[in-house]
Amino acid sequence: MLIIFLYIIVKSAIYNKLLIMAMKRTCNNNEFFLKWHPEMILVSDSPITWQGFLLISHASCEPHDIQCSRVKLKLILPNYPSFRNVQIRFGKQIAFLRNIEFRQKVKALLMNSTQTVPLFLRQLQSLIGEYMHKADSKLCMIDLDATSNFLKDLKTALQNSSDVQLTCNHNLNMITLSLRGISLKLQRCNSIEVPWKVISSDLPNVSIFEGFEKNITNLSITMVKFKWQVELLENAWKQLKEIDENCWVIDPLEPNKSHMYRRIHLSQSISVTITIQDLLHPTALPVIKFFGSDNEVKKQINYVSDNMHNWNKDRSILENLRMLLNMYEFPEPQENLEDKKAIIGSHECGICFSADELPNKICNNKKCMKHFHSTCLSKWLQTNARNQVVFNHIHGACPHCKENISCFIE
Ligand SMILES: [Zn+2]
Ligand SMILES: [Zn+2]
Repeated sequence: MLIIFLYIIVKSAIYNKLLIMAMKRTCNNNEFFLKWHPEMILVSDSPITWQGFLLISHASCEPHDIQCSRVKLKLILPNYPSFRNVQIRFGKQIAFLRNIEFRQKVKALLMNSTQTVPLFLRQLQSLIGEYMHKADSKLCMIDLDATSNFLKDLKTALQNSSDVQLTCNHNLNMITLSLRGISLKLQRCNSIEVPWKVISSDLPNVSIFEGFEKNITNLSITMVKFKWQVELLENAWKQLKEIDENCWVIDPLEPNKSHMYRRIHLSQSISVTITIQDLLHPTALPVIKFFGSDNEVKKQINYVSDNMHNWNKDRSILENLRMLLNMYEFPEPQENLEDKKAIIGSHECGICFSADELPNKICNNKKCMKHFHSTCLSKWLQTNARNQVVFNHIHGACPHCKENISCFIE
C-alpha cells in the first residue's frame, strides 16, 4: 500500500517536473501558452500527450463579425521534444480536417526542424481559421448567387405588365402579391423545387388551391397563378357580398375573403348556414344547415326539401334562398350598438355563457328560447341519470325553463 502511495507521489513529482520542463522547453513563457491555448492540457508524460480544445477565431462573411470555434485535438509526441512520428487526432465535427490538402499543410508545419508545441499549435490555429473562413465564404457565395438570381427573377416579373402588385421587403426574402384587396405573402426558400413558401394568404383554404407552392419556379409564374386564383374566386365573393349586404350575418362576425360560408339570422329561434361547395360554380346548390329549436329546424328542413328542386344555378344564391325559405325580406341587422349587444347577449350559450362559437341549439319553448351549444347541453343532460337516451338523443329538461328538450349525444 505504502509502496503504491510512494509510487504515486514519485510519479506525480516526475510528471510535474516533466510538465514544467515541457513548458520551459517549448515556450519560455507559461502565461503565453495559457493565453493562447487555455483548453490544451498535458495529459500524459509517456508518451508526451497534449489533449483538449484549440480555440479558433475566424472572420465570417458578415463584416466585423468574428466567430469563435473550438476544435477537439489530441497531440502525441513519442520522441519529445522531437516531432518525429508525431500523431495528431482531430475531433470529428469539421469535415475539412480530414481532407488531403489540409492534411498536407499540417504535415508541412511538422517538417519544420525547430518546431515547438506552442508554435505548432499557433500555426494550426491560424490554418484551421483560414479553412473555416473559406468554408464560410462558400456559404456566402451560395447566398449571393441566390440573391442575384432572385433580382433577375424580380426584374423579369416587374417587366411583365400585370394588375398584380408586387412588393418586396428590405432583406429580399419576402414578397407580397396583391390584387383588388386580396394579398398573398411568400417567403424565399433555399430549395430549387420549392423556391417560395406561402406565409399568409387571403385566399380560402380549399382543395383546388392546395399546394400553391407547387410548380412556382419563378415570380412571373407565381403572379399568373395568383391572378388566376383571384379571378376564379370573384364570382363566389360576389355571391357572398350580396348576402352580406342583404342579410343579417351572425357568423363570421367580420367576414373576409377566406370565409366561404355565412350564417344568416332568420328569426330569434332559427338561423341558417350556407357553405359554398363548388367554387367554380358558386351558384350551384350550397350546403345548407339550420340551427335553432327542434320544432323550427324540422319545419324548415321539410319545407326546404320540398323546394330544393327549384334551385336555379343561373340565379344568385340570395335569390335562390329567398325562394327556398319563402322569405322575400331577410331580417335587417341591428345598427344600434345597444341592440347589437343585446342580440349578442341573447346568442350566448345558456350553460357556458360563451358566444365565441355560436350556439347551435335553441330551446323549443317560445317563452324561453335559450341558446345552447349542443356539446354543453348534451353534457348537462347526461349529468342526470334519469334522463333517457333514444337513438343517440338524450331527453331531459331545459336548464332554464325546465320544459322538455333533447339533444344529440356528442
Ligand atoms: Zn356552451
Ligand atoms: Zn328552455
